[in-house]
Amino acid sequence: MQLELTDFTKRFDGTTVIDKMNLRVESGELIALLGPSGCGKSTTLFAICGIHRISDGQLTFGGRDVGHLPSQKRNVGVVFQNYALYPHMTVFENIAFPLKVQKTDTDEIRARVQEMAELVHIEALLDRRPAQLSGGQQQRVALARALVRKPDVLLLDEPLANLDAKLRLEMRSEIRRIQQETGLTAILVTHDQVEAMSMCDRIALMNAGQIVQMDTPTEMYQNPKDKFVAGFLGNPP
Ligand code: ADP
Ligand code: MG
Repeated sequence: MQLELTDFTKRFDGTTVIDKMNLRVESGELIALLGPSGCGKSTTLFAICGIHRISDGQLTFGGRDVGHLPSQKRNVGVVFQNYALYPHMTVFENIAFPLKVQKTDTDEIRARVQEMAELVHIEALLDRRPAQLSGGQQQRVALARALVRKPDVLLLDEPLANLDAKLRLEMRSEIRRIQQETGLTAILVTHDQVEAMSMCDRIALMNAGQIVQMDTPTEMYQNPKDKFVAGFLGNPP
């Protein structure tokens, strides 16, 4: 589903952190919100999922205005850096939780959880608790939970930051595979340009609360708009 931010502005106690940002993500696209620490990536993501109120501007999903809706009424799946799994629940219960909250019937919950477990390849782990899983497995569970309600958009905030280098590589292609298999519109927040370039259809490069350039990885790499873009893409952190 297409997602669009129009003149999105975010202020915290009178300080403007994002000033009239425009961003359109096409249906089925995976884009990266890339930029240095503190540039406003998470703030943008939190505004899209409804954790933060939008100070000014518009947010639409598929042309429908959702900016005024509380987070529970926006159909958004979110995966955070620390996965935020419920430690006292099994994997099955973690994935089922969003459906339980909306009182989906038991048979349908079981079928949906099974479908998600197959999608993210954790069928054998449904009885375990999060503490009994590796970082990569925990992240798969977090993805399954984010997808179980068939969200309109999937938001990923630095989902690979806590993984070691080998797992990070594996999960890059896994996240991309899952996004393509589900056909979801997705936004990946990252400060890692290699991750953005290798995973995403387009990159929105941010600096100080603004999108400096939005293009395909190749286009941005070959035709950086200014020194900031060239420097950011050229110098791995
Ligand atoms: P990023 O995710 O790109 O590292 P953030 O979106 O977290 O950056 O932060 C962008 C700017 O907004 C930073 O200057 C940060 O200090 C400020 N900020 C973020 N959250 C709050 C908050 N709750 N209150 C005040 N300032 C905030
Ligand atoms: Mg952040």
